[in-house]
Amino acid sequence: ILTWPEFWNKNKSRIGVTSEEVEIVDKSLANKISIWEGDITKLDIDAIVNAANSSLMGGGGVDGAIHRGAGGYLKQECATLGGCDVGEAKITGAYMLPAKYVIHTVGPQGEKPEKLQRCYENSLNVAKQNGVRTIAFPCISTGIYGYPQKPAARVALSTVKKFLLANPDSIDRVIFCLFLKSDQEIYEDLLQKYFGLE
Ligand code: ADP
Repeated sequence: ILTWPEFWNKNKSRIGVTSEEVEIVDKSLANKISIWEGDITKLDIDAIVNAANSSLMGGGGVDGAIHRGAGGYLKQECATLGGCDVGEAKITGAYMLPAKYVIHTVGPQGEKPEKLQRCYENSLNVAKQNGVRTIAFPCISTGIYGYPQKPAARVALSTVKKFLLANPDSIDRVIFCLFLKSDQEIYEDLLQKYFGLE
C-alpha cells in the first residue's frame, strides 16, 4: 500500500491535477477523523481548540462558551501569556471543562488562507508537543471573523490532512466540531472527498 505522498508522486501527472489539495480519497486517514455536531465545551478529550482573539481574554462565540465553561482560572492563566498573534497558538489548562487542555489560536478576519492554515498547523504542533492525542477544532474564523464557511473548511481539511500524513504517530483523532447545520452540510461533502468518510 502506498502512502498518500507516494501515491501522489506516482500518479499526479496521470491524474492531471495540479493542486496539492486535490480531492484524492485517502482511506488510511479516515479512522483518525470524526465530526461532533454540537458544543465543543462538552467534549471529554485531550484538547479543544479555541477560536480566540489576540488578547486571549475572552470574547463572544466559541471563545465565550469556553471561558464560561472553564471558569475564571482560565482567564487568569491567559492573562500570563502576553496575548497571541494571528495564526499562532498557545496552550492552557481547561479547568472546569471535561477536556484536559485548551489550545487558543487566533484566526484571521476575512478570507486569508495562509493565516488560517497557520492556525491549524500551529494548533496541531502545540498539541503534538504536549502529548495531546485527541483534539477538536471549531470552525475557526467563520463566525464573528467572517471567513466564508466553505473555503475555510477546505483550508481546515487540507491542513489537517497534511499534518496527519507528516506526523503519523502523533495524533490519534481530530474532531471537527460543527456547531451550525450549514457547516455540517459542507463538511459532509468535503470529508468524503478529503478522507473518504461516508
Ligand atoms: P471567530 O471569531 O473565529 O469567527 P466564532 O466563535 O465567532 O469565532 O465562530 C467560530 C465558529 O464557532 C462558528 O461556526 C460558530 O458557530 C461556532 N461556535 C459558537 N459557539 C460554539 C460552541 N459552543 N462550540 C462549538 N462551536 C461554536
